[in-house]
Amino acid sequence: MATTAKFWNKLSAAQALKTVPRVVSSGQGAHLEIEGKSYLNFCSSHYLGFAEEPRLKQAAQAAIEKYGMGTGYRTLAGTHALHVELEREIAHFKGTEAAVCFSSAYAANASAVQTIMDKDDIVVSDQLNHASIIDAVRVAGVRNKFAYAHSDMSDLESKLAAASELQKKPKPNGEHPLILIITDGVFSMDGDLAPLPKIVELAKKYDALTMVDDAHGEGVLGKGGRGLVNHFGLEGEVDIEIGSLSKAFSVMGGFIAAKQPLIDCYLMGARQRLFSIALTIPDTAALLEAVTMLGESEHLVQKLWGNVDYLRKGFTDLGFDIGHSETPIIPVMLRDEDLARSFSAKLFEEGVFASAICFPMVPKGTARVRVIVSASFSKEDCDAGLAAFKKVSQELSG
Ligand SMILES: *Cc1c(COP(=O)(O)O)cnc(C)c1O
Repeated sequence: MATTAKFWNKLSAAQALKTVPRVVSSGQGAHLEIEGKSYLNFCSSHYLGFAEEPRLKQAAQAAIEKYGMGTGYRTLAGTHALHVELEREIAHFKGTEAAVCFSSAYAANASAVQTIMDKDDIVVSDQLNHASIIDAVRVAGVRNKFAYAHSDMSDLESKLAAASELQKKPKPNGEHPLILIITDGVFSMDGDLAPLPKIVELAKKYDALTMVDDAHGEGVLGKGGRGLVNHFGLEGEVDIEIGSLSKAFSVMGGFIAAKQPLIDCYLMGARQRLFSIALTIPDTAALLEAVTMLGESEHLVQKLWGNVDYLRKGFTDLGFDIGHSETPIIPVMLRDEDLARSFSAKLFEEGVFASAICFPMVPKGTARVRVIVSASFSKEDCDAGLAAFKKVSQELSG
């Protein structure tokens, strides 16, 4: 059989395993409408309720009236005054010298690594890092890769010792390879934090650069949602910070925040920026409004944490094991894969949308239903969610 025919046959066979995502016909607030019915939204990372925030909508509408829709390629005529303002405000918010935006955090991660590392440099990466970091290291073509056991600082140190040995051998151009340590800020399956103070300390000891992907930390951790680096009081100590504008910011896009010379290097060399489109006018205007709101008041971040405390206590009082989360990501541990799947399905029947997370996303025997908390939940929403978990738990054990 021809190779192309085999390819098409293989695709047809795989269709049996096809899963179709649920189609949402409302905005992304505390409730989602799916096939005409309303569900409590326990599974989106819209931590602050910005997806339906009137001020963001108004900012986007006003900007569309004034400037239209699209922008263009940043290095040609696509750099709009709104982009420049957004980047300045993000840097100010993060407490870094400068920032540069991309159309996603996926692209920001790829740029962050690819622009400064070549195949003879060295990456030391947490084993549980997000797929976009794994792909970033791949696209950079880095051959010297070390993965350390999740948040295990003695393993990180032994990997750094090995990296140091490797660093002694110069690259073909005579320079010694750079060592870059990369970690997620918040790990999205368990909601635990990277031990950043220790990582920074080890980076200094072994002469390595540091990169933190704070996609789930921005808008959530630190003073007024400034993120993980602020949470640990480490401003100026982390070389590269990645942020997503699609999680707490509820729009789309990503950024790199860093010292000015490094941002200049990305401005000139990042292929994901040179050869891919910039954020649109409404996205940029809405994001600018979101950063402004976070700068004005800590109210939303406090509301989020009030809901986190309330739900954590609620789940614990009901006897659920909620792991060791330190963030609004609450893993309700069920362990058994089938149980987690039927639990999620029954919750859906009760009007609660919360995903089952099973192998291979998490190790076998650690299946869970993951709840993501938002500032947009009212107390009644939280109570309704807890009541549904209680009911389903009784049904499934009875
Ligand atoms: C969601 C996520 C990303 C990707 O963000 P996008 O802006 O959607 O591309 C990257 N890193 C981490 C840790 C994430 O959770």
